[in-house]
Amino acid sequence: MKFFLLLLLFPIFLSAQSLFQHKENFTRQDSLRGSITPEREWWNLKHYELAVEVFPKTKTIKGSNIICFEVLKSAKKMQIDLQEPLQITKITHQNKKLNYTREGNVYWIHFSKNIPINSEEKIIIFYEGKPTESKNPPWSGGITWRKDEKGNNFIASSNQGIGASIWWPNKDHSYDEPENGIDMYITVPEHLTDVSNGRLINTIHNKEAKTKTFHWQVTNPINNYGVNINIGNYSHFSETFKGEKGNLDCNYWVLKHNFLKAKKQFKQAKMTLEAFEHWFGPYPFYEDSYKLVEAPYLGMEHQSSVTYGNRFKNGYLGIDLSGTGVGLKFDFIIVHESGHEWFANSITNKDVADMWIHESFTAYSESLFIDYHFSTKEAEDYIVGTRKSIKNDKPLIGQYNVNNEGSGDMYYKGANMLHTLRQIINNDKKWRSILRGLNSEFYHKQVTTKQIENYIIEKGNLNISGFFDQYLRTIKIPALEYQIKGNKTTYSLKNAVKNLKIPIKVWINQKPVWLDASTRSKTYLSKENIKSFKLDRNFYIGQD
Ligand SMILES: [Zn+2]
Repeated sequence: MKFFLLLLLFPIFLSAQSLFQHKENFTRQDSLRGSITPEREWWNLKHYELAVEVFPKTKTIKGSNIICFEVLKSAKKMQIDLQEPLQITKITHQNKKLNYTREGNVYWIHFSKNIPINSEEKIIIFYEGKPTESKNPPWSGGITWRKDEKGNNFIASSNQGIGASIWWPNKDHSYDEPENGIDMYITVPEHLTDVSNGRLINTIHNKEAKTKTFHWQVTNPINNYGVNINIGNYSHFSETFKGEKGNLDCNYWVLKHNFLKAKKQFKQAKMTLEAFEHWFGPYPFYEDSYKLVEAPYLGMEHQSSVTYGNRFKNGYLGIDLSGTGVGLKFDFIIVHESGHEWFANSITNKDVADMWIHESFTAYSESLFIDYHFSTKEAEDYIVGTRKSIKNDKPLIGQYNVNNEGSGDMYYKGANMLHTLRQIINNDKKWRSILRGLNSEFYHKQVTTKQIENYIIEKGNLNISGFFDQYLRTIKIPALEYQIKGNKTTYSLKNAVKNLKIPIKVWINQKPVWLDASTRSKTYLSKENIKSFKLDRNFYIGQD
């Protein structure tokens, strides 16, 4: 999802610009939420079975979650997260009640004896209450209780940053995903429809209770912030995308009165899948289908249930983020949030401090969509245009183990960093094979920044140093300093980390020249006197 641009476009949202609170000092609650505690480490998630009934009148929910897990180390104390004011009412294991204590948003579950290693176990957690209501979705997490234009309930969850434990009990850390996915049984008033992740297995009409239960199933691993409910007066249409892994069924759920608008605008969904399969490889969740689901907020990368609220307009709510006109050639939310299926949902950050892996690649994917369907020149115009929103306020990588993200620059500074890498590699076939390679090497995995860095350097056979440190770990943008005398250029990189070394393309007398730039001063001799000297615009580097 994106958030910092709202700061520029709609200053009114200033207080809610970030999904995470800005913090200097972290608390014990932050550490419990953001680290792999001993009480999380001993068990590996296999499957969730989440059953929730939603009561729009009282804005309450009630449900249970069956957590299946594999025991990696024998232990008897387990951490489960559920945020206040929701409450766990009972936990059972092998039909016996378990004791538990609460510490803020953490529940400590005490088994009566050590659970043996290698066993597969399950616990059932019952919970209920009035979940936090989102005041500004998706930037503030929780449940959104709205009415559509026709007066029907329009309800949705969103919880990136704050965490899925804001509405259901789970292991709320991105390092562990349930390998066998999730089954969701969502019960709503009978005149409404719930749309969640994966495939609709069946719908049960509970006539006496005047409710309907929708069973949705995801068979692939899923990051828990991607699990979602969307409840409204939906209509549905579908189509088949013939992709690299065969037939992918695409399903579209929109409010009934938006059906015709959606039929037109959602043509871009197939275009998006086609462009991203070209650049990144097969859509990562064929087994669970692809969906676009209308939501009462701008959008979010919910896995196999991409939520959409961009008013069926091109651009970002009709606005071109690049200021070049190119941003109006596509629907920002369809393209950006679908891009996250590859980077966020398939390749997921192990610690949210590395969230640039989600947002930099996905912001970059916007230009790859343009490159594929329009032209490389327009893709460059777009990505260079987005530099105006870079703030260089703090590094792209946040603080580890405390649920802390880096700067909002992880969108367009990160995208420009990747675009610069493409120039350095200077071979689009190789660049594409790296992007596709990342998606096969780290398919459905949780990764660290180091893994991504090493993969790119190795596969790109890159003779660079300090590059990732410069762009990910400092706020300094390197500047090319140069002096020209006759046919001689003396040049070096300033404002750079000590060991920064990268090839840079410049235009001397309108001809391309590669300079081996570093913090050390070097000279380049042209055959003729230098009349013009220009840094190639695709490098995100300053020029002094
Ligand atoms: Zn995003």
